[in-house]
Amino acid sequence: MTTLFTKIINREIPADIVYEDDDVLAFNDINPQAPVHILIIPKKPIATLNDLTEEDLALVGRLHLTAANIAKQQGFAEEGYRVLMNCNEHGGQTVYHIHLHLMGGRQFTWPAG
Ligand code: 5GP
Repeated sequence: MTTLFTKIINREIPADIVYEDDDVLAFNDINPQAPVHILIIPKKPIATLNDLTEEDLALVGRLHLTAANIAKQQGFAEEGYRVLMNCNEHGGQTVYHIHLHLMGGRQFTWPAG
């Protein structure tokens, strides 16, 4: 099943893209929950974390490395940031193409908010 993220990858829907390589795309979230809120997605459409396989391990590592690199480039790596992935209904997932949320520029609390 294709999602709107496939349409963003294929440039059928516009997005504010901040990083792209052969395997990964990163763009600003349309409804930011922090001063910086970037979605980092694999170009390979994997629906949920539950659908991950051994062959995807390097790709998921690359998503995280991309998050850290963007945080460094944008200057908030040392202050800190939050990276998370939602899974299915209870996790709050709404787009079924795995993505990291990279959020920075404010203090986060744990476990809520
Ligand atoms: P999820 O809830 O699946 O973890 O995250 C999906 C995210 O995609 C949400 O934070 C939502 O704001 C974002 N989103 C939904 N539609 C669009 C869109 O068309 N463009 C962009 N840039 N982000 C979107």
